[in-house]
Amino acid sequence: MNTTKIGWIGLGNMGNPMSQQLIDAAYPVTVYNRSKEKAETLRSLGAAVASSPKELIELNEVVFMMVSDDQAIDDLFNGTDGLLAANVRGKVIVNMSTVSPGISKAFSQLCKEQGNYYLDAPVSGSVKQAETGQLVIMVGGDESAFQQVKPIFEKLGKLNKRIGDSGSGNTAKLAINTLLGFYAQGLSEALVFAQQHHIPNEAMMELINNSALSSVFIKIKGDAIINENYNAAFALKHIAKDLRLAKDEGLDSPLANVLFQTFQQAEPEYGNEDIIAIMKQIR
Ligand code: NAP
Repeated sequence: MNTTKIGWIGLGNMGNPMSQQLIDAAYPVTVYNRSKEKAETLRSLGAAVASSPKELIELNEVVFMMVSDDQAIDDLFNGTDGLLAANVRGKVIVNMSTVSPGISKAFSQLCKEQGNYYLDAPVSGSVKQAETGQLVIMVGGDESAFQQVKPIFEKLGKLNKRIGDSGSGNTAKLAINTLLGFYAQGLSEALVFAQQHHIPNEAMMELINNSALSSVFIKIKGDAIINENYNAAFALKHIAKDLRLAKDEGLDSPLANVLFQTFQQAEPEYGNEDIIAIMKQIR
């Protein structure tokens, strides 16, 4: 039995399987989710359920957050019974959501002033990697806090790496997701072009999957296109958000500017579908 008491905030597509990994690793886990019903699945698997972020951090030593965006982080820290309302010291808060480097720097400072630590620790990988503990975790923040949390990261990912000071994990993640956007749009454009010349998606995907361009992402998303399955594993609205964050950080290069535009245009119609629904926009 692992003894570090873990609090987990956010039980969406990623947070649900990630918190289950820690229950499976025999950590004592308490969860909190804004919509209460999502916590019931975790309760049935052995987690305790907290009524607020404040209660969660009071009860636990390390608190993980896996929620949508900057607004969610702000609400969870500053809301009624939020994390900052707790009178606690020596806690480590690990924000695994993809958010701006700026919000991480700001909350890192506020946590420090209260005698707590904040790490930004976004992840590469999607639901499948979350379910199997195969994520790639990039971390910004205090080295000693990172070392304290490292054994827990090892249950969630195949690689965990401290990149530098607060916010640097978020910056690395925005760079990776820019590349992810290129892959999604590039695959879609290649398939649409081939289809215009009467080459079916199935034939193209067999060629690509056996070529030097093959990758786990291309394979999974190619299958999704063939099966017309656009249910969100990674919602298009999240990559549109990430590209906005990257642009705010100064991303301004030829391909990235087109990528940004395509995903912003697609978001109103396809935001709640998977990233690969960009295929519909390209069509
Ligand atoms: P999701 O399924 O949309 O879940 C979002 C979670 O955030 C839910 O628990 C939601 O609570 C919570 N939330 C949203 N706004 C909130 C607010 N204002 N206050 C409190 N809680 C709030 O998202 P996801 O796919 O798990 O992604 C989570 C994060 O990981 C995002 O930053 C995303 O960019 C990143 N990410 C996702 C993937 C992926 O493949 N899905 C991969 C890597 C990184 P409710 O249940 O109450 O709505």
